[in-house]
Amino acid sequence: MQDHHFDTICAIASAMSQAGIGVIRISGPNSIEKIDRIFRGKEKLSEAQSHTIHYGHIVWQDTVIDEVMVLVMRAPRTYTREDTVEIDCHGGAFLMQKILKTVTELNIRVADPGEFTKRAFLNGRIDLSQAESVMDLIGSKNNAALKNSMNLLQGRLSKQIRLLREELLYEIAHIESALDDPEHYDLEGYYEVLLPKIEKIYDKVSYFVSTSEEGALIKEGIKTVIVGKPNVGKSSLLNFMAKKERAIVTEIEGTTRDLLEEQILFQGIMLRLIDTAGIRDTKDAVEKIGVQRSYDSIEDADLILYVADASLPLDENDFSIMERIKEKNVIVLFNKSDLAPAADESKIKNVLSAPVLPFSAKTGEGADLLQKTIKELFFSGRLADDNEVFLANARQTASMAEAKKSLSNVMESIKNDMPEDFLSIDLMDAYEALGNIIGESVEDDLVNEIFSKFCTGK
Ligand code: GDP
Repeated sequence: MQDHHFDTICAIASAMSQAGIGVIRISGPNSIEKIDRIFRGKEKLSEAQSHTIHYGHIVWQDTVIDEVMVLVMRAPRTYTREDTVEIDCHGGAFLMQKILKTVTELNIRVADPGEFTKRAFLNGRIDLSQAESVMDLIGSKNNAALKNSMNLLQGRLSKQIRLLREELLYEIAHIESALDDPEHYDLEGYYEVLLPKIEKIYDKVSYFVSTSEEGALIKEGIKTVIVGKPNVGKSSLLNFMAKKERAIVTEIEGTTRDLLEEQILFQGIMLRLIDTAGIRDTKDAVEKIGVQRSYDSIEDADLILYVADASLPLDENDFSIMERIKEKNVIVLFNKSDLAPAADESKIKNVLSAPVLPFSAKTGEGADLLQKTIKELFFSGRLADDNEVFLANARQTASMAEAKKSLSNVMESIKNDMPEDFLSIDLMDAYEALGNIIGESVEDDLVNEIFSKFCTGK
């Protein structure tokens, strides 16, 4: 993947905020010589050694724009593998924009989102799964997701996938050579050797497919709905969960039915609370049971938190709610346990086969147990090890699932004693599907699609 000829690009690489320092990054041919034209310092940047820092000023048409430190990094030991300059200037959106504008006067183009990382990929410095993890790193919202992005960026996933591909390629080559040159290569007894090898690869691939779901839950959050009749403490629960971590992270509009989602981090677990607005509204709403809107979201949910009032006997409203959720993944919170011990647990157990936890949104009692219960329901613990990598997104998961399917075909063919050329087609498919994950042999469109999701300057 060498021999790409690019123009020179620039972007503000730091956040557009009132931070102390801002970074403007320039990459491409003659970037160092070009910046020399607006840099005044003790020495010329074009004469400087690679990986050195220079103090000076950015000057345009005899006007000093800012006092700066400039980093000079020559190809190929840079992020993009091109000559790269970074201008560390004073922070502040206005000033950074002004310097960026000056840089563009030098016939340097403002980069598209993700263009630096795209060059790093096209110039062979990182592979596609690593490039995607740069994007994930920027967007990581919790520790586990961050750790995974770091692992991916360091190429742990790529390394494992490359090994699997090498093993497959070895077998493909073996079969092809035997078919081409039957006199010198003998396939007698080959299937007995091949089957356990393919089974091993299949197991590894299946593992990645199965943990990807868990990975997505860690990264994106568990889709959760809170239900319960009015006054049982739903909004108190919501406030308690959100406030505790002081982190209502985002409000996302537009799931399939335009329900409102809120991401919160509850004791280290990411939850995507669906339609919490409905809960907050119930006080003003004329709804009788007050959960009609939540019913709409029940179908979409991974988890239902059913809140009941421990201080009062259950009534018909409770039972009608339980009827509607009994097929789902439910945790019952017997709220207001600070007022009274939950008496009606057995009545709930008659309808729902769900864990019933005493809880108090007021005192926080039961929060640890709730966290533990959610973990048990959703996480196998396989990803608890910090060094365990999981697939980062749906694209990678789809390719891994394709590889799994092809490998299963291979095993099937071996068992049915099908001819070798039959096998090699499926082996090749698996090989390609795995290649897609790390961007070997991916189409240009796919590459463009992925990089357009980045922010500029990365
Ligand atoms: P919602 O209608 O289900 O959203 O219920 P709210 O969250 O508005 O709570 C109804 C009332 O119960 C409020 O007065 C809360 O302060 C109170 N409440 C909620 N949770 C608890 C709790 O755990 N203990 C006690 N003692 N009161 C609670």
